[in-house]
Amino acid sequence: MSNVTSTLSMQKAYFATGATKDISFRKQALTNVRKAIQKNEKKIIDALHHDLNKSEAEAFSTEIGILYSEIDFILKHIDEWAKKKKVKTAVTHVGSSSYIYPQPYGVALIISPWNYPFQLAIAPLIGAIAAGNCAVIKPSELTPETSATVKQLISETFDEDYITVIEGAVETNQALLAENFDYIFFTGSVPVGKIVMEAAAKHLTPVTLELGGKSPAIVDKDANLELAAKRIAWGKFTNAGQTCVAPDYLYVHSDIKASFLSALKQEVQTMYGEHPIENKDFVKIVNEKHFDRLSPFLSNGDTKSGGKLDRQLLKIEPTLLTNISWNDPVMEGEIFGPILPILEYQDIEEVITGIQNHPNPLAFYFFSENDHLAEKMIEELSFGGGCINDTLYHLASPYLPFGGVGNSGMGAYHGKDSFLTFSHQESVLKQTTKFDIPIRYPHVKNALKLM
Ligand code: NAD
Repeated sequence: MSNVTSTLSMQKAYFATGATKDISFRKQALTNVRKAIQKNEKKIIDALHHDLNKSEAEAFSTEIGILYSEIDFILKHIDEWAKKKKVKTAVTHVGSSSYIYPQPYGVALIISPWNYPFQLAIAPLIGAIAAGNCAVIKPSELTPETSATVKQLISETFDEDYITVIEGAVETNQALLAENFDYIFFTGSVPVGKIVMEAAAKHLTPVTLELGGKSPAIVDKDANLELAAKRIAWGKFTNAGQTCVAPDYLYVHSDIKASFLSALKQEVQTMYGEHPIENKDFVKIVNEKHFDRLSPFLSNGDTKSGGKLDRQLLKIEPTLLTNISWNDPVMEGEIFGPILPILEYQDIEEVITGIQNHPNPLAFYFFSENDHLAEKMIEELSFGGGCINDTLYHLASPYLPFGGVGNSGMGAYHGKDSFLTFSHQESVLKQTTKFDIPIRYPHVKNALKLM
C-alpha cells in the first residue's frame, strides 16, 4: 500500500469514530493551530524570506495575521453555525418539522500554491477543521522551506490520522488525486484546476477551485487619483505582483491618463525607492522559470517606469507599460509578476466589451466617485469579487465569500463560507405519527378517481 493510500485509509478510519465532529474537539483543534502558528512565527517568517524574500512586515500581514483573524472569527461563531437549524415546513407537509444538519464530508484534500504558501495551506484547513473533517495538505514544492515548515508545524500539533501534510511535486499530486477523498480544495492555476476537476470527477468528489485570471483595475476620469494611485501601486506590487487578486492590467480614462500615471509612478517610488531591485524588502520572483516567462513582457509597449531586472537576484522592478493593446503578449494570460500594462479608454463601453471578451476575472477594481457608473459596472460584468476604490481588501473581510466564477474558479471560502464549503447541508424531515393524510397512497388516489 502506498504512503498516500495508507494515510487516507487511516484518516477515514479516524473520521468514522466521530471524534472530529465534536464541537469542543473542533474548537480545541483551531486553538491548537493558532498556538502552533504563534509558537513558530519566527520560523514561518524566515521560511517565507528564504523562499520569496518576503519582509517580516509583509509576511506577518499577508500570511500570518490574516489566519489569526480567521481563527478568532470562526471560534466566535462556530457554535451557532454547527447547530442543527429548524427551518419552515410547507403546508403540504403538515404535522412534520424540518431541519438542516451541517455535516462534515470526511477527509479533505487541500492542495496549495507557492505565492502565499503558508496562508493558502492553512486558511482552507481552518474551514476543514471547523466543519469537522480530517485533512491532508499538499503544499507547493516551489517554496520548499515553507512547505517543510507547514509539515513540521502540523506534525507537532496533530496526529496524522487526523491532519497531516504530504510534501511533493506533480507525481505526489497525481497519486493524491487518484484516491477517493471526500472533498478537494484546490488553489492554483487554471490548467491544473482542470486536471484536479477531471480527477475528482472519477470519484464524484466535490471540489472548490480557487484559480486565477486577468483581473482589471479601471481608473475613471472623476476618480480620486491620488488614492487610486496609492491603492493600485500597493495592490499590484505587494508580493511583486504574485498575488491571485493583484490588478493584472489597468484601464485609464484618456482625460486623466497623464496626471494619473505620474501619480502612480510617484507612489511606486515612495513605496519601493528609486532602485527597487536593491530594496531588501522587495519580493523576488519565485524561480528562474517564472523570471524567464516574465522578462520578455518588458519589451511590450513603452516603459513608463521601471523595466530593470536582475536574474541572479530573481528581481524585476515594478514596471509600468504604456501603449499597450489586447494584441500584446503581456495581455494574453495572467501576468503574475510586477509588470503593469496600461490601456487607455474614452468610452466606458470599450472597457466593458474588452473585459467581456475575455474569461471572467477573479477580481475587479473600479476607481470612481460616480456611484451610478460603479453599479453599472458591477451589474454588467461577471467576476469573482472586487472593490470600488480599492484593491485586494475584499479578500481580507470574513463577511465576504472569496472565490472565482467561470474560469477564475468555483466555490468560495473565508468566514462562514469556509465552514459551509467543508460542510454538507443534510436536510431532514421529521414526520408525525399522530395522524396520516392518506391522499398520497395509490389505492386512495384511485378510489378518489372513481368517485
Ligand atoms: P499551480 O497550479 O502550478 O500549482 C498548484 C498546486 O498544484 C501545487 O501544489 C502543485 O504541486 C500542483 N501541481 C502543479 N502541476 C500539477 C499537475 N500537472 N498535476 C497535478 N498537480 C499539479 O499554481 P501555482 O503556480 O503554484 O500558483 C499560481 C496560480 O495560482 C496563479 O494562477 C494564481 O492566480 C493562482 N492562485 C489563486 C488563488 C486564489 O485564491 N484564487 C490564490 C493564489 C494563487
